[in-house]
Amino acid sequence: MELIKSIVEMQKISNDLRYNGLKIALVPTMGYFHEGHLSLMRYAREKAHKVITSLYVNPTQFAQNEDFSKYPRDINRDFRLADETGIDYLFLPSNEEMYPPEFNTFINIKGISEKFEGKSRPTHFNGVATIVAKLFNITHPHIAIFGQKDYQQTLVIKQLVKDLNFDIEIIVLPTFREHDGLAMSSRNVYLSEDLRTKATIIFETLTKAKDLIIAGEKNAHKIIEFMRNNLERVRELRIDYAVAVCAENLEEKPDFESNDKVALLIAAYLGSTRLIDNMLVNVP
Ligand code: AMP
Repeated sequence: MELIKSIVEMQKISNDLRYNGLKIALVPTMGYFHEGHLSLMRYAREKAHKVITSLYVNPTQFAQNEDFSKYPRDINRDFRLADETGIDYLFLPSNEEMYPPEFNTFINIKGISEKFEGKSRPTHFNGVATIVAKLFNITHPHIAIFGQKDYQQTLVIKQLVKDLNFDIEIIVLPTFREHDGLAMSSRNVYLSEDLRTKATIIFETLTKAKDLIIAGEKNAHKIIEFMRNNLERVRELRIDYAVAVCAENLEEKPDFESNDKVALLIAAYLGSTRLIDNMLVNVP
């Protein structure tokens, strides 16, 4: 595996790969790899000739009060894991190169990026869309792989690709979970042992809400009420949002109908750690 730090060098490599007719997959990450990240890289390895994993903790997607400076980092371990996973290039740009002092362009996606995560973190998706567009222009991928773990992000990126005519296929892979169901996340290391155990309430709530829908519940208010009540059984948990919405556009609906695809979305604080998770359900 090659470690590439310069934008120009990465662009030259991607141009050469394309010139030679090779299919490029990009897996964008912020590092501190877990099995979720590695599952995306393994998939990419099967679907393309060359895999580029980008590792960049993007400052513009964090607000002032968020965890940018303490976001977990371990570049040596990440290098080893990416290498063992068989990817070809680890792209590790610097802040100075990604955002030079004269940097002045931000992508603002309306609609889908203004709800839920976008409401709680108003500048977040501008930062995400901007960095993903930059990474696309630097690595020239044919396909780019994202996790369903960040479900709203996948919709934002699909909107970006459609609106700005990126000729890139977006692939979304299922959420990789711990044995007890907790969605793997770099941020799980923030949790104390006690809160780590209690964090399973999120997956439990999603699973039970899914079962409720499969058993015939179509009323959004009742599904949401169930989710909130179940989450509130953990005293240390503070709900940011817990909703049941249309999966394709995150629109709210009073009652779902047969064959609707519902997205159950949860964001919650356990202590000071903010966790998100989701589950998709086909209404019977
Ligand atoms: P991050 O490093 O957290 O920005 O995540 C990089 C990519 O990995 C994003 O596309 C995430 O959606 C994806 N990802 C994060 N956690 C998981 C998980 N538990 N399972 C699958 N994909 C994940």
